[in-house]
Amino acid sequence: MRVLVVEDEKKTASFIRKALQSESFAVDVSHDGGEALLLATQTAFDAIVLDIMLPGRDGLSVLRQLRERKNNTPVLLLSARGQVNERVEGLNAGADDYLAKPFALAELIARVRSLGRRGGEPKSVILRVGNLSLDTTTRQAQRGGTTFELTTREYRLLEFLMRSPGRICGRMAILEKVWDYDFDPGTNLVDVYIKRLREKIDEGFEPKLLHTVRGVGYTLKEQP
Ligand code: CA
Repeated sequence: MRVLVVEDEKKTASFIRKALQSESFAVDVSHDGGEALLLATQTAFDAIVLDIMLPGRDGLSVLRQLRERKNNTPVLLLSARGQVNERVEGLNAGADDYLAKPFALAELIARVRSLGRRGGEPKSVILRVGNLSLDTTTRQAQRGGTTFELTTREYRLLEFLMRSPGRICGRMAILEKVWDYDFDPGTNLVDVYIKRLREKIDEGFEPKLLHTVRGVGYTLKEQP
């Protein structure tokens, strides 16, 4: 797995690089947002570890530019602890995960590994709910002639919901399946992603497919 680490604090960057290298990741480091953007468009990385606080072009701006250019490389954002708005903004901008500083290296490695986990899908399966379809090979969703590009986490969330239409999926089950968390991070991560998914698959379409079951979780089905 090839990982791009974007962090201007040289000590932190080197610390992360060494940790990932010791786990057999190939690592490139950039200390600058503009340069990182260039590198990310020139090289196919399996994951990007992106610090929000960067001089010049900050991490959120790098992320937005990447997604605007249809680059769907999984991104793990690093943010200062307590910057909840920043994190939500990051997730809305297309980040796949985030980690608050200071973090344990073991956790960083686990998150990067989870982001980079790809392939292994034996054969193409098309999942369908109503007129929404999801191709598990191309990872594209379609509804009413519109094709949606999905980030890694959006894809995993939609796949999880579509594999059991009508079943109510609780927040913990979603955190476990989509983020590999076995604990509740105490944030609105799931809600943020549900909202993003809803904007893609339900906005402008009838009937709505993604339903909130108040206090319990979410379900995907044709009938309300
Ligand atoms: Ca920084």
